[in-house]
Amino acid sequence: MQCINCRQQEANKESGLCDSCETLDKQKINGLLYLPAAGLIINILCIPYGFYAFIGAIINFLRQTGIISWYAIGGVAVMLIDAVMTLTASWYFFRRKKGIRKVLVAYYLLGVAYMLYFVVVPAWLYGAYIDGNDIRNALFPVIGAAVWIPYFLYSRRINTVFCR
Ligand SMILES: [Zn+2]
Repeated sequence: MQCINCRQQEANKESGLCDSCETLDKQKINGLLYLPAAGLIINILCIPYGFYAFIGAIINFLRQTGIISWYAIGGVAVMLIDAVMTLTASWYFFRRKKGIRKVLVAYYLLGVAYMLYFVVVPAWLYGAYIDGNDIRNALFPVIGAAVWIPYFLYSRRINTVFCR
C-alpha cells in the first residue's frame, strides 16, 4: 500500500503514512496542542478590548475626579507587558520555535499575575466586590498555568513539535 499523503513511498500499516510523512505529522500542532493554540488566539483577540475597556474606565474616572491613580498607570503597564508576552508566545508557538518552554511558562505565569492585578488587587485595595464572574475569570488563568506549565515542561512531544 502506498502512503496516503505523498503516494510515493510504502506506507506503514498503522498510520497509512510512510516514515517521512509520519515524522512530519508528528511535528504538527494538533491533538492536545489545539487547546493552548486556541487560548493564545482568544487572548490576542481580547487584547484590543482589554485596552479599550480599561482606558475607557480611566478616562471616565479622570473626568469625574481629575485623578489618574497609580493603580491605573500600573494597569496600563501590566496590559502592555501582557500584550507583548502574548504576541511573543504566539510567535514561538505557531512558528514551532525551540525556546517554547521558557516563553510559555513566562506567558502562563504572567496570565496569573495579570489576573491578580485586575481581580485580587482592586478587591484588596478598594474593597471592590468580587462576583461569580470575577471568580471564574480568576480561576481560568490559574487552571491554565497549573495544566499547561507541567505539560510544556515535561511532555516529550514538545521536543518533536517545537524543533525549529
Ligand atoms: Zn508519505
